Amino acid sequence: MNTSAQPLHTETAPRLEIRNIHCSFDDRPVVDNVSLTVQAGQVTCLLGPSGCGKSTTLRIIAGVEMQDAGEIYVDGKLICDTVYRVPPERREIGLMFQDFALFPHLSVADNVAFGLKGTRAEKRARVTELLEKVSLSQYIDEFPHQLSGGEQQRVALARALAPRPRIMLMDEPFSGLDNRLRDGIRDETLSLLKDEDTAVLLVTHEPEEAMRMADQIALMRGGRIIQQGAPYNVYTNPVDRAAVAFFSDVN
Ligand code: ADP
Ligand code: MG
Repeated sequence: MNTSAQPLHTETAPRLEIRNIHCSFDDRPVVDNVSLTVQAGQVTCLLGPSGCGKSTTLRIIAGVEMQDAGEIYVDGKLICDTVYRVPPERREIGLMFQDFALFPHLSVADNVAFGLKGTRAEKRARVTELLEKVSLSQYIDEFPHQLSGGEQQRVALARALAPRPRIMLMDEPFSGLDNRLRDGIRDETLSLLKDEDTAVLLVTHEPEEAMRMADQIALMRGGRIIQQGAPYNVYTNPVDRAAVAFFSDVN
């Protein structure tokens, strides 16, 4: 493929766009013609029940799983189709998962600095800035095991944001946390994300989380996106009875 012949509407292009992504395992479609966009400065939630294909979609965008069809664009530039493929480490994507495993043998500062390039002073400045933002400056020289689960989660967020990723992919990042902590951490995470120039695709099976955090919701079921829109619109105009039932646990 001639990769210079790409749509060049970069000024208006969304930060992330996936088009008609398809992925089958053993001839079973798991991601079925999925298209969505994420704008810079916004959070799009990929919301749906367990097993509907959310994580596979994220893995395809991250470049650790390969689609059978469809394209991925960043700022209007093709980064992956079935022929051309920018490797995962060159996609400028930050990742955060439920199991956000920090490096146990590295200090908080070294965990956050891990993916950073530049001089020592530059790295130190970025680490200090982010630890201040997540209110963990006092733990800069501590080790992960000395921190609570919620604090470790915030270090993981700082680490993912440190290299200024163009896109943040977050897969159920709060599901390992205590219920009492979750709302506070969701709000803190949101304000930190909005402060950075990134576009967030957040996967969750909890409607409440999507309602709280999303600018846009893409509702997924059986490998397909069945509805997309602003949270209020998706919630108040459910596409079918199953969507009503799915949203019924939101207060
Ligand atoms: P979700 O994140 O929405 O819970 P997943 O994307 O993890 O869903 O999985 C969707 C479906 O694809 C599940 O039925 C899962 O078992 C299956 N699946 C995921 N990865 C693989 C794989 N590497 N090989 C075979 N089946 C897989
Ligand atoms: Mg999953």
